[in-house]
Amino acid sequence: MKIRTMMNYMIFVILLFGAVHADATEIATPKNIILFIGDGMGVSQITAAKIVKGNLNIDRFKVVGLLTTHSHNDLVTDSAAAGTALATGYKTYNGAISVSQDKKPLKTIVEYAEDRQKATGIVVSCSVTDATPATFVAHVDSRKKYSLIAEHITKSGIDVLLGGGLCYFLPKSTDGSKRDDEKDLIAELEKRMKVIRSEKDFQDLGDVDSVAGFFATKHPARANERKPSLSELTRKAIDILSKNKSGFFLMVEGSQIDLAGHKNNQDDIISEMIDFDDAVGAGLDFAEKNQQTIVIVTADHETGGFAIHNGYIKDKKITESAFTCKNHTAVMVPIFAHGPGSSAFAGIGDNTVVGKALIQYLQESM
Ligand SMILES: [Zn+2]
Repeated sequence: MKIRTMMNYMIFVILLFGAVHADATEIATPKNIILFIGDGMGVSQITAAKIVKGNLNIDRFKVVGLLTTHSHNDLVTDSAAAGTALATGYKTYNGAISVSQDKKPLKTIVEYAEDRQKATGIVVSCSVTDATPATFVAHVDSRKKYSLIAEHITKSGIDVLLGGGLCYFLPKSTDGSKRDDEKDLIAELEKRMKVIRSEKDFQDLGDVDSVAGFFATKHPARANERKPSLSELTRKAIDILSKNKSGFFLMVEGSQIDLAGHKNNQDDIISEMIDFDDAVGAGLDFAEKNQQTIVIVTADHETGGFAIHNGYIKDKKITESAFTCKNHTAVMVPIFAHGPGSSAFAGIGDNTVVGKALIQYLQESM
């Protein structure tokens, strides 16, 4: 009798653990993915924002890791090679936009998401043709071929595209165009999505399923003057994309942290970081309610070799700091993850882990 009771108990335990395991597997595959990329954001850039802002949204993450960022041909990466690693899971040469070392197209997270009927979006504070956003939707052998990148973006299936770079979508004869041909990519985009060009258009935007918003001819203004803010754009993108029943992928870039690093401008690094952190908060707010969303925050590389030497927490002030260069550095970048599947990003890894893991989640996703 005792033995039978014990066996029954053991069968019960096995069934219970079996059920827990099956549940855990189900929960580990996120339905929605939000990937935040702070361009040029190293640990010092985050620390500087934390000294000035106090609590950051980035503080809300429990899973933290570090990523190596070298490209195929250089210890110090550029945004194109690093963006390709994040978007496809493969190393390539500096300057490559989601093409391999022998210039063959590498399938991106956005394209895998489209295979699963997920909605896709890109939100940036630079031109949408810049290296980081381009690596998610274009396959071009040089990051400088902006006109061609704009054509790839236009032909892509992206549902939400918010940033700057209107000049690469206008025909050559139109004022402000930077194209060298008469292709009217705005007219092409308008065939399949709402196209808006101002902050007012953005505030007036009704209920849409897809939108392309250009808020600057080339690069939008710096964070303090930029409207709409990155967090407003992120919230709107999530509102639109989350209507899709199959889920969504969204990439949000704090693009100008890098520009401030190249200029060794500490004040701009801090304001760009705070703007970026506000956007991260919008992503986390959604994910905490939704429960089926993984949110990742990482960087493509650090810029400026920025270091903080002295300051006061109480006064929210940095009094001494330094930059070692005006370029990118080889230092590892942090990665933060929240939600189903986030444990894959704990510890030290390489930046290709991001593309590989997210693509795996999309392939597992029903
Ligand atoms: Zn840069």
